[in-house]
Amino acid sequence: MREMRDTRRTTRNTRPSRPTSIIVLSVFYTFLFAAMLVYISYSSTVNKQKYINNNYNTRQKILLAQNTRGKILSRDGDVLACTETDKKGKEVRKYPYGNEFAHIVGYASNGKAGVESFANYYLINTGIDLAEKVSYDSKKQKYPGDDVTTTLSVKLQEVCCKALSSRRGAIVVTDPKTGEVLAMVSKPDFDPNTIEKDWKGFLEDKSDNANLLNRATQGLYPPGSTFKIVTSLAYLREHPKDYEDYTFTCKGRVSEGDNTISCYHGEKHGSLDLYKSFAKSCNSSYANIGLSVKQSTYNDVLKDLMFNDRLPEDFLYSRSKAKYKDNMSKGDVMQLAIGQGATAVSPMHMNMITAAIANNGTLMKPHVIKQITTADNKIVESYGGEEYKRLMSEEEARILTEMMTQVVEKGTASKLKGLSYTAAGKTGSAEFNSSKSDSHAWFTGFAPAEDPQICITVIVEDAGSGGSFAVPIAKRVFDAYFGIG
Ligand SMILES: [Zn+2]
Repeated sequence: MREMRDTRRTTRNTRPSRPTSIIVLSVFYTFLFAAMLVYISYSSTVNKQKYINNNYNTRQKILLAQNTRGKILSRDGDVLACTETDKKGKEVRKYPYGNEFAHIVGYASNGKAGVESFANYYLINTGIDLAEKVSYDSKKQKYPGDDVTTTLSVKLQEVCCKALSSRRGAIVVTDPKTGEVLAMVSKPDFDPNTIEKDWKGFLEDKSDNANLLNRATQGLYPPGSTFKIVTSLAYLREHPKDYEDYTFTCKGRVSEGDNTISCYHGEKHGSLDLYKSFAKSCNSSYANIGLSVKQSTYNDVLKDLMFNDRLPEDFLYSRSKAKYKDNMSKGDVMQLAIGQGATAVSPMHMNMITAAIANNGTLMKPHVIKQITTADNKIVESYGGEEYKRLMSEEEARILTEMMTQVVEKGTASKLKGLSYTAAGKTGSAEFNSSKSDSHAWFTGFAPAEDPQICITVIVEDAGSGGSFAVPIAKRVFDAYFGIG
């Protein structure tokens, strides 16, 4: 398990955080990490793996001299990475899908990333039996390394890539019942086939593209209104019996001292209960809710939802940040309640919270590796179906599911209404500077609402509202999953 520590200094003003600096900083850490690979070994849960995974470890070199690096496969057996040997005996790592699986499958030169990195131990070892080895020996061939079958779907990955098109952003698709990662896309991306040639250019690129950064796990973004899921849970903890009695009249904005929170585009939402506040994504109502919740309740919820903490991921990732600090001004509390200010979250983390809601409150351990097999199809290891942690009670998950269903039925995700499947979710339009047009478009949700099978989190950088730009992308992925269109 690895993580990147983000030591960015957070300021306590109420201005939204600036993702450009976050991205730049994350890029810095990515490159720092790549540089560090020269000196340090990967950490791993198994000491033996840790030992072998050291790039400069003699044992690894010996293994690569004996064994050809194994294949990485999709859940359906499509080859995502393989090693071909030319006539001169030179081994070349091939990635048939090019950019499409760039961040998730990763690369095996210039350091390692993605599945190539955390499944390295298996890829360079071989589990074939002695008789097989003798057969390869007689042909003077290297032994085939073990193959890694992932949980990834080529179909969904392709749909995600096309849906995000040339926009910067990320999409994470998981199965909430098993924790399987079905697709993960981050853009801009790179072609792992030409990574060695392109490497220097990426390092020298001073733009915000950060092609090597896996935005799905390493990108930290202001969550905007998707964070109202968190604030709602804090409110439900304090009002388990009377949350339905909540009322608020939205006049388009709410002020506390010098701080004013406005609803999106200054809209006045009028008389609201909790469900309507959520469905309409009323900032004024949620600022009001945030101010009503005790600091300790809020921070307990943040802890339960794994903010400021480790996440169960094999990927390189950034820790999400959210805290109700001591002596926080009312303005800052209002910002916290609507997912602005110093709060920052990765798309993968938002997907985990959403998946837990979809799975009656329990987060299944997210995983990309389904099975390890030898070249002659003997199973070495299988993964999956492991509970990681209960993030909330079953009743809380049920209420949040109902609230997220109303977002589709009566609120900001209406583009998912009236389809052959019932979706549930939350949109977000996360502002990242004072100009009102600058917002990241978010959607996080699942379907079918009554028996969730697929959980999708989308962020499109600097696109506009979540309802207009992230929901249609999620719809394309849902449609593909349910075999529509
Ligand atoms: Zn409002």
